[in-house]
Amino acid sequence: MAEKGGVIVSYNDQNIFAKILRGEIPCDKVYEDNWALAFYDISPQAPIHILVIPKGRYVSMEDFSEKASDPEIVGYFRAVGIVARQTGAVSDGYRLLANHGKNAHQEVPHFHTHIFAGRDLGGMIRRPEMDKIGN
Ligand code: AMP
Repeated sequence: MAEKGGVIVSYNDQNIFAKILRGEIPCDKVYEDNWALAFYDISPQAPIHILVIPKGRYVSMEDFSEKASDPEIVGYFRAVGIVARQTGAVSDGYRLLANHGKNAHQEVPHFHTHIFAGRDLGGMIRRPEMDKIGN
């Protein structure tokens, strides 16, 4: 996997979400259209934790926002909205999260947006003082 400064710069067809897209491994699907596939996260961090991935080969938001066509970008973000609405969490609230690179601890090098919902999700991100005391 080609990396530059800890950031993955070339797409690897063997990543787990590429395998899900090809139907080589199963997923718990919640939505699919021409642009996106959405499925439940295997290790949920909220009562509702869904991943929305584009159908195209993009490593992260960085790659997607730079290289995807306008229809891909529009189609993808419309799908994120549709899935968020499907969760029924619009009135109570939900959170979107997309990790890019090592500081964000991106694990799977295929662009994805997490949708979290179903409980009070707390503050926005971990505060530096929490890291110092090992939380
Ligand atoms: P990230 O750190 O943003 O790359 O998050 C990757 C997410 O993918 C994690 O929340 C994992 O639990 C999730 N994940 C990894 N493998 C699978 C899988 N086979 N099906 C569903 N979710 C997965």
